[in-house]
Amino acid sequence: MQGNKSKDTKPELLVRERLREAGLGGYRLQWKAPGRPDVAWPGKKVCLLINGCFWHRCPKCNPPAPKKNLEYWVPKFQRNVERDQRNLALLQEQGWRVHVIWECELKKKTIDATFESLIPVLREELDK
Ligand SMILES: [Zn+2]
Repeated sequence: MQGNKSKDTKPELLVRERLREAGLGGYRLQWKAPGRPDVAWPGKKVCLLINGCFWHRCPKCNPPAPKKNLEYWVPKFQRNVERDQRNLALLQEQGWRVHVIWECELKKKTIDATFESLIPVLREELDK
């Protein structure tokens, strides 16, 4: 079956669905911390960053860069990656525990393994 392209497949929704299933609610979206973490439990200072592989230059799946307009894309990617690193460092300095979830870790073939390892860690950190 071909995956449909409805908004239900959006990475954020997939993540939130898994969190709900695991009973890990109580999070806030786009919390006002460096980089606006997609999902955050501010009281526990735990957050999830959900990154699109293309824009954030995923080290796991290495998405191919566009072949044209490199003078546009290369600095743009560079800025994105640097911004991510800066935000991650700021969050950690402020005492946040940060989990980065890449889009490619949420595919049909990978999502179960992703949450099998993530959920127990979150449970521990969130005390749930
Ligand atoms: Zn990826």
